[in-house]
Amino acid sequence: MSGSALFETFARAPLSFERGEGCWLIDERGQRYLDFAGGIAVNSLGHSHPALVSALTEQAQKLWHVSNLYEIPGQRRLAERLVANSFADKVFFTNSGAEALECAIKTARRYQYVSGHPERFRTITFEGAFHGRTLATIAAGGQAKYLEGFGPKVDGFDQVPFGDMEALEKAIGPETAAILIEPVQGEGGVREVPTAMLKRLRELCDQHGLLLVYDEVQCGIGRTGKLFAYERAGVAPDLMAIAKGIGGGFPMGACLATDDAASGMTPGVHGTTFGGNPLAMAVGNAVLDVVLADGFLDEVARKALLFKQGLAGLADEFPEVIEEVRGAGLLLGIKCRQPNAKVSAALRDEKLLTVPAGDNVVRLLPPLIVGDEEIRDALGRIRAAAARLSTSAAA
Ligand SMILES: *Cc1c(COP(=O)(O)O)cnc(C)c1O
Repeated sequence: MSGSALFETFARAPLSFERGEGCWLIDERGQRYLDFAGGIAVNSLGHSHPALVSALTEQAQKLWHVSNLYEIPGQRRLAERLVANSFADKVFFTNSGAEALECAIKTARRYQYVSGHPERFRTITFEGAFHGRTLATIAAGGQAKYLEGFGPKVDGFDQVPFGDMEALEKAIGPETAAILIEPVQGEGGVREVPTAMLKRLRELCDQHGLLLVYDEVQCGIGRTGKLFAYERAGVAPDLMAIAKGIGGGFPMGACLATDDAASGMTPGVHGTTFGGNPLAMAVGNAVLDVVLADGFLDEVARKALLFKQGLAGLADEFPEVIEEVRGAGLLLGIKCRQPNAKVSAALRDEKLLTVPAGDNVVRLLPPLIVGDEEIRDALGRIRAAAARLSTSAAA
């Protein structure tokens, strides 16, 4: 047996944290790290947010789990609030992003089925996409490294190059049910889909009777300065998966749908044991209390601009390290001129935590509650790491 009793699936950094406070993580030796990885866009309100701690502990005193055999008031409330603040009419709660996507894909297929098109079951996706690690969602993501060795790829997914509208139009066929896209690609390298492209996708879906499905698992819940990233473009989907930020660290997700898109999801056709459990709902409602409070999202947008401007300055100063700064809101990416793993490790040496992404990008995903002072602190650490990397590149 190697190393530990755990599956060897994760290449973990040699760090182990004992507690967290806001944007900070504290390791077993008391060393403080500035957390701009944010649990990969999960810790939307940072660590140990008092409102989340009290929501969770208060619910824990009352009731943990009853199953979906019964009414769960927290579910109704959270669903109503998500509906009131989005394109959607209906919500299904899950435990993770991948399950929210599975629900969206199944809902799209059922919609076609009950609309007299049982032959339509295929979903078009985009290169660089990431939709999760279940058998269907690795097929949707289409990345060879995640599909290899897991048997035949689940049928029903057709992938086209990112941004190639001609290829997309060609890919639409008699079996196409839906188009699935992240309004801002996360794992794929923090690539924002241009507004014109989302508009065109909407038109094509309407023209061909397809459903437009967004994956906002990473870019949703205030990350871009709007509650949902699609609001930036003003192009609404028919279905949308969310997760990560809505739980603020408690595992949960949801599939949002219009009444029409959800028309095939009748009693018994889909289900979950844990999805929408009272603990998750208490936390999800508490996250929304904060994110929907007056001025919170405007502050996210303002701080994001401050951070992005600072990063752009560093890109000018260290062109041999930083090729480009990209992203929306507090979902930012540094496209590196050196291997992103090396840049991320250099930042970790400065006690700034970040996440590598595709396309040689380092992702910066600070909690939405980050302060101006912490942004300046992070910029200072990035500057120090870049200075070291650029001298070593010159040597
Ligand atoms: C993280 C992520 C998922 C998968 O979520 P899990 O909770 O890990 O299943 C799906 N889509 C996107 C865009 C993600 O970032």
